[in-house]
Amino acid sequence: MKALILVDIQTDFLPGGALAVPNGDKVIPVANQLQAAFPLVVVTQDWHPADHGSFAANHPGKKVFEQIDLNGLPQTLWPVHCVQGTPGAELAPGLQSEGIAKIFTKGTTWALTTTAVCSITANVNPPGSVSGSKRKASQQFSCADWPRTTA
Ligand SMILES: [Zn+2]
Repeated sequence: MKALILVDIQTDFLPGGALAVPNGDKVIPVANQLQAAFPLVVVTQDWHPADHGSFAANHPGKKVFEQIDLNGLPQTLWPVHCVQGTPGAELAPGLQSEGIAKIFTKGTTWALTTTAVCSITANVNPPGSVSGSKRKASQQFSCADWPRTTA
């Protein structure tokens, strides 16, 4: 069975969002169009607690995009984004959701907990595929580098 995995197409990764990807909104109509071609559509959703370990704001004296050691692993520090229950964490407006079979939330605890989802996305979505608005900006930092770092 073929499946379409839409990765982190969320408000905070769109222009104007907390961790915006330039032109990130352009992936939405493509993702919507592709959904019809797949019998199974699932999405991942960054869903961080406010005290998430990847947020620079939770490490006094540290800056966004700075690298730290977090529980023995290198971690890039991000701006606060996709906090559980906030508008920025919602799936992007305009993303068709009727056909989505499952939403896999990730980054849901303080530390690094996205292993399973990152393994899936790294293997299924080759570079250049439509995998979410976030990928273009943070591909070098995200699932492709697991477990070295995650956002
Ligand atoms: Zn994140």
